[in-house]
Amino acid sequence: MNNQQVTSGVQPEPTRIPGSLAAVTVFGVPVRFHFTFVLMLIFLLFIGIGDKQSGPSTALYIAALFFSVLLHELGHTLVARHYGIKTLEIVMFPIGGVSRPERQPKPAEELPISLAGPLVNFLIAAALIAWMATQQGWVALEGLKEPTDANLAERIAAGNLALFLFNLLPAYPMDGGRILRSLLALRRPVEEATRIAAGAGQSLAILMGLAGLLWGNFMLVFIALFVYLGAFQEGAAAKGRIFTSGFLVNAAMITDFRTLTHGQSIRDAGNLLLSTSQHDFPVVHGESVIGLLTRSALVQAMLNHGPDAYVSGAMAREFPRLSPEMPLGEALPQLAGPAACALVMDSDDRLVGMLTSEHLSEFILLRQVTAAQKKLHPSHD
Ligand code: ZN
Repeated sequence: MNNQQVTSGVQPEPTRIPGSLAAVTVFGVPVRFHFTFVLMLIFLLFIGIGDKQSGPSTALYIAALFFSVLLHELGHTLVARHYGIKTLEIVMFPIGGVSRPERQPKPAEELPISLAGPLVNFLIAAALIAWMATQQGWVALEGLKEPTDANLAERIAAGNLALFLFNLLPAYPMDGGRILRSLLALRRPVEEATRIAAGAGQSLAILMGLAGLLWGNFMLVFIALFVYLGAFQEGAAAKGRIFTSGFLVNAAMITDFRTLTHGQSIRDAGNLLLSTSQHDFPVVHGESVIGLLTRSALVQAMLNHGPDAYVSGAMAREFPRLSPEMPLGEALPQLAGPAACALVMDSDDRLVGMLTSEHLSEFILLRQVTAAQKKLHPSHD
């Protein structure tokens, strides 16, 4: 992230979900495979081939479920496109696909977009069941426990019904959680609606995890972990947006900080790192900022070139920039990393402040405490 230049007002280049592999393009949308998805495919192929099920039938079953998940995501993609929202990428994870829209849909748009995916699975199951009804008789559900070549179509139909029901669970990050959020958002602020849906997701994940441990079903524990992480991330992002709304960057930025000049040495920078609580140092030349020296770049330069090297050789020349007048909420994506740092520059390109992810979380914490204090003691308002 350090070498990525982000200018205020301009959207950052869409970054890929880390760990995702090569893409195929469907309807103009890149579809990538997360490495855990590839691992799962290999695992399923190994455990799937049994006495009554041939290799080709196992492969066909897995391929059919994969296409069902892909069609589910394309359902979201096409309805989102109807509202003018482009999908940046679809990433296939072991428990399903994830579509990354170019912007957050409005609650009224999110409802049909979220419904479209599960609806695709329902239609696949319905079509298969209708087809089977015209062909042979009906296979009893108990027969599905034992996969055979004969009940392949039944198993694909059952898999799609499972996808339909699982995705409609009213808990974020499942589609049902998004539906819940869009319905809640009709009557309350969207961030609060997100927090409730994410909270439901975390509770559901904990229940699923406990049930999985109790029954010794490790697949369920695995799914619970994914759900928990997804819900946690969205909940934290929603909290960030709630407590920064109404504030500009200049309300939260650090104004008391030290800078380095381009002629100073790595030794000087190291001394400054020790004598201050700062981790990142803007490098200036006269009035203008020419770079940013992060702690990791400083350590790297110390290792490779020794303490007498110049900071200008180690600093990043491109760094995230923010405008002091931009809404703080818009700066959140640029400070998403654990050690992210952005420089705040005014319209004359003068350095007026700094903002780090650490400082931003302190700002959010203080806003949270203030809000809690107002609830406890309304008279102090
Ligand atoms: Zn979905």
